[in-house]
Amino acid sequence: MTARNQSLIELDGIRKSFGGNEVLKGISLNVAKGEAVCIIGPSGSGKSTILRCINGLIPIDEGFVRVGKHRVHEIRHERGMRPLRRQVAMVFQQYNLFPHRTALENVMMAPVQVLKHDPGEVRERAIALMAKVRLAGKESSYPGELSGGQQQRVAIARALAMQPEIILFDEVTAALDPETVKDVLTTIRELVEEGMTCLLVTHEMRFAREVADRVCFTDHGLIVESAPPAALFDTPQDPRTREFLSQVL
Ligand code: ADP
Ligand code: MG
Repeated sequence: MTARNQSLIELDGIRKSFGGNEVLKGISLNVAKGEAVCIIGPSGSGKSTILRCINGLIPIDEGFVRVGKHRVHEIRHERGMRPLRRQVAMVFQQYNLFPHRTALENVMMAPVQVLKHDPGEVRERAIALMAKVRLAGKESSYPGELSGGQQQRVAIARALAMQPEIILFDEVTAALDPETVKDVLTTIRELVEEGMTCLLVTHEMRFAREVADRVCFTDHGLIVESAPPAALFDTPQDPRTREFLSQVL
């Protein structure tokens, strides 16, 4: 295992309540550069909340969150979040593309408007990214003309256009028609193989097994078990993991 100080993401003892409801009860997790870690677990167990703590979308009550050199839990103002948000991209179940912009314009928008990069250069990179997600030829299509899986791949290209160091994926195939899921997973698999640091919440157990370096099982706000995929799926140690896997496998 990689030494702790080489982790790109470090979570230590994170606690978070909404109202009186404690949804994270002491989450500790390290992700090394180039690692792909999958988070699995029942609905409501805190998976999305973990991701949102990492890119500073929600403040934590207790604990420590570091991403690269950013001590996220100490950042107080939205302005202070900007360098972090450039380092960490997030892809959601709802891809939220701008419907009146073409696929290529969706990919170009943030680098041009937020990073103020040269539009000509951004355009070239965006065309290359469309090819990378296997959507060459769809640059001028509007989101409504694309399948769910194609739209999600545009969303991934849009995330990559910001040249992030880390991508957080939150159940990005959960809302897709089964026949389009595979192409999205292939795109993610290629990113992982290229060494992109990825933290993925997913219900795709076979994908987690094949692609992840490590799988974490969450239940009621805790990481109950964390292991390489073969170990976690074949010889789960905790009864809660066994129970969950017996329902989904
Ligand atoms: P998961 O992604 O594993 O399904 P979540 O992290 O979305 O779980 O949610 C964990 C728990 O926290 C759930 O009970 C959910 O209702 C609650 N929760 C999440 N976000 C909020 C919020 N902004 N306000 C209140 N409760 C929330
Ligand atoms: Mg969720």
